[in-house]
Amino acid sequence: MSNTILEVKNLKKYFPTKKGLLHAVDDISFAINKGETLGLVGESGCGKSTAGRAILRLHEPTAGEILFEGKNTLQYRGQKEKRKMRQEMQIVFQDPYSSLNPRLNTFELIADYLYVNKTYKTKKEIKERVKEVMHIVGLEERLEDSYPHELDGGRRQRIGIARALSLNPKFIVMDEPVSALDVSIQAQILNLLAELQKSLSLTYLFISHNLSVVKHISDRIAVMYLGKIVEITDYKSIFSNPIHPYTKALLSAIPIPKYGLKRERIILPGDVPSPINPPAGCVFCGRCAYKMPVCAEAAPELEDRGAGHFAACHLK
Ligand code: SF4
Repeated sequence: MSNTILEVKNLKKYFPTKKGLLHAVDDISFAINKGETLGLVGESGCGKSTAGRAILRLHEPTAGEILFEGKNTLQYRGQKEKRKMRQEMQIVFQDPYSSLNPRLNTFELIADYLYVNKTYKTKKEIKERVKEVMHIVGLEERLEDSYPHELDGGRRQRIGIARALSLNPKFIVMDEPVSALDVSIQAQILNLLAELQKSLSLTYLFISHNLSVVKHISDRIAVMYLGKIVEITDYKSIFSNPIHPYTKALLSAIPIPKYGLKRERIILPGDVPSPINPPAGCVFCGRCAYKMPVCAEAAPELEDRGAGHFAACHLK
């Protein structure tokens, strides 16, 4: 029996603009196994958050297939099917402050989510479930009556996690869940997410612009650039044996922890091209020190370079 819980095939999400179609996510494919964390990294605007939202149909995909436990969720039309999908596939947002209604207290924020999603029917069931998830995410009972502005960033994010968990999901998109938090609190939340994953058998798509953060929690890492996945492999190989020139440039900005040193920094020339008019060949062509004539003409496929290490680059 397959261990794959989520398979994304040729997913595209384009947004119409006055200047033309914005190719936010441009034909990406990957799979995630049950209980695994796939890190999705790339600079701001590369399409990683749009990909996460498209997988949950918060942005309706332009094309592609999303198979969750073997079923194509894009074919779900009725409310019942969509509601079931939303129970099983959840999201935790980056900025808990802006994603929480400031007029609701902790209890109401979680209860409201349960009420809207209609999983727990009676007031008693909802009350019990709120208390249960507050305990699971480490929110003290005394905070039930506290409003978001009365809580620190870590506790606000715990509410966001509690809301997502309240429906008993199997899969959660973590969309930059620690980026808005103080560094001192980031580690606490990352540890909590790792513990929850084990105890509740969760699968994560962990989105971040920060490779150092993703490294701590991911089993495999996919690197995105201008709407495309350019490299995907296990977390160790990304750091020890990066293939794609863009991955190498991203890594060059990270300090080597033991000595507080940096690798030789690769400064990329130019800017990221517009996603409204992406290059015809390799999307990284205009900034790549290794580009060849073929790179401007043909987009490289994401190919297996051995042991499940995939890269999209003509350089062999
Ligand atoms: Fe550079 Fe060519 Fe590889 Fe693109 S395909 S990353 S331009 S070498």
